[in-house]
Order: sequence, then C-alpha cells, then structure tokens
Amino acid sequence: MINILFAAPPEQFELYAAPLRQSLAQRGIQANVTMDYPPADIDYVVYSPSSTLQDFTPYTRCKAVLSLWAGVEKIVGNESLTQPLCRMVDSGLRQGMVEWVVGHTLRYHLGIDQHIINPDRSWREIHPPLARDRPVTILGLGALGQACAVALTALNFPVSGWSRRSKHIHGITCHHGSDGLQAALQSAEILILLLPDTPETEHVINAQTLMQMPRGATIINPGRGPLIDDAALLSALEQGHISAACLDVFRVEPLPQDHPYWQLPNVTVTPHIASGTRPATAAEVLVENIVRGENGAPFLHLVDRTAGY
Ligand code: NAP
Repeated sequence: MINILFAAPPEQFELYAAPLRQSLAQRGIQANVTMDYPPADIDYVVYSPSSTLQDFTPYTRCKAVLSLWAGVEKIVGNESLTQPLCRMVDSGLRQGMVEWVVGHTLRYHLGIDQHIINPDRSWREIHPPLARDRPVTILGLGALGQACAVALTALNFPVSGWSRRSKHIHGITCHHGSDGLQAALQSAEILILLLPDTPETEHVINAQTLMQMPRGATIINPGRGPLIDDAALLSALEQGHISAACLDVFRVEPLPQDHPYWQLPNVTVTPHIASGTRPATAAEVLVENIVRGENGAPFLHLVDRTAGY
C-alpha cells in the first residue's frame, strides 16, 4: 500500500479523488489518497501551488512531487524540495489551450471585434485575408506551444516558433536561442506567448522586442504575466504599434481593478482561464508517474531545476 498526499485546496480533492482512485485501480496500484497523513509516511505528493505545503523536508520517503500545474515557477525554487519534481502535461489541458489559442487567433485574424463593437453601424466591406497570408509566431514550442502550432498550421497559417534549444517540426519555421528571437518576431502579425516564467524569459516582450514586430500586430498571452514588460506593452498599444492584446495571465492575479489594462478598449483581459488541468486525463498522467516510481523507471515530464521549467 502506498500513500499519496493530495496537497491542494479541498475543492480540488473532490474533483480529483475519484479519477485518481479509478486510474490507480486500473493500473493495479493499492494506494491511500489522502489530504492529511504523517509526512514521513508519504510516497508521492500531488501538488498545487495554492496548497499550504511549503516545507518538503519532513517528506523523507517521498519519491516524487507531481505538480497539477504545467507552470512550476512557484515551486521550482523551493530549496526544501529535494525530491524529483514533475510538471503537468495533460491531453485535456493541451486541447483546452489549443481551442483557446485558435479561437483568439481567428478572432484577430478575421477582425471579429470590429463587427461586434460597431457603435456607428458602419458598413465596412473589408474582406479579411486568408490564413495563408497571416504569419503567426509562437514563443515556446513545448507541450502547449507545439500543439497550438500544429493546429494553426492545419488552418493554413504560416507558423513560426521559438524555443530555447534547436527544433525541427514539420511545417513550422523553428527559431531558437537569443539569436533566433528577432527572426521569430519580425514576421509576427499575431504573436502567441507560451513560454514558462523563468529568470531568462522575464520581459522577453519589452520595448525593444515589441519594435521588432510588424506595426499593427496583435499579442495573445496565455503563458505567464512576467513575460511582458507591461509598461512597454501599454506604450506600444497607445502608439498603435501593437493594435490589440488578449491577456490571460498577469504579474499580479487577480489583475488589480485600477490596472490600465482594464481601461483600454483594445485589450481583452481573461482571468487565467485559457486552459486548466482536467481531472480525468490528468489522473492518468499522475498515475503513470506513480507506476514508474514504483518500478524504478524514469519519471515523465521531469522539471529541469537549473532551467526552471
Ligand atoms: P513546456 O513543454 O515546458 O514548454 C516550454 C517551451 O518554452 C519550450 O519550447 C522551451 O524550449 C521554451 N523556453 C523555455 N525557456 C526558454 C528561453 N529562455 N528561450 C526560448 N524558449 C524557451 O511548457 P508547456 O507545457 O508548453 O507550458 C508552457 C507554459 O504555459 C507554462 O509554463 C505555463 O506558464 C503556461 N500555461 C498557462 C495556462 C493558462 O491557463 N493560462 C495553462 C497551462 C500552462 P525548449 O523546447 O528548448 O525546452
């Protein structure tokens, strides 16, 4: 019998307990799934950053900490966490992100807002270009960025991407490293941010990189708030260099009521809902790693503590 601590708010336990127990049973693992157990007896911790658990020192038997979130910036620097840390890669989370990103990309590509918000009832017969003439760039070609790139390519958008290490993905123009960023940005009529929040990615979108984008470009950020230098983006929006932005994540969440983003008609604020981990599919991923831990096999989706993601 193994002991799994569910270190997350109680309302999440209600959503995850049944799928977790079901997946464990299907894989033939006998386990207690609990929110409260003596730390020294815990074999695995399923972890949400909104948990109160911050000191991992007493979890002496724990073989791995399994994050419910894809982004691990709130836990990766925790010095008491010496156990392997795995991030969440979940097909439900991925599909949700693809749908959200494709939806907002099509919205900007087709100019949908101009018809929804049309107080003058003006009759503008301007046909949007075809997707094949609308270059899109995705910063971050990981589990989520790559899935969005593939979906947008299937709609005929010419997609470029940028990652830390070199990549070859069929149908996508791949750039990497600091040298590749400018090339990735210069064609970006629609820019999508799916990078993790690390010291290296902070303010990747700043006054200088914004000017490397074509005039009138739009930005969609479901990645993390600190990727953007907010003052620089506000200035680029006011000058019209960036025509619109849809922002799902912020340095401070909830976004304070008096934040200038709320005031601008060309900024859409969404409350960190681009995609969420889905209990049914996530439970299978968590249990796969528990099976691996029990068999001494390498864990999936291990966080690189030096790179920070
Ligand atoms: P991932 O698989 O770890 O991919 C991260 C990507 O970013 C990789 O392609 C990586 O390059 C690239 N990258 C990291 N540091 C870089 C740097 N310094 N320069 C250039 N590229 C860099 O992560 P994911 O699962 O796709 O998730 C991405 C992020 O989405 C998460 O970290 C989280 O912040 C965010 N997210 C948001 C929501 C939401 O609802 N808003 C939901 C889930 C996730 P390599 O490929 O070379 O490693």
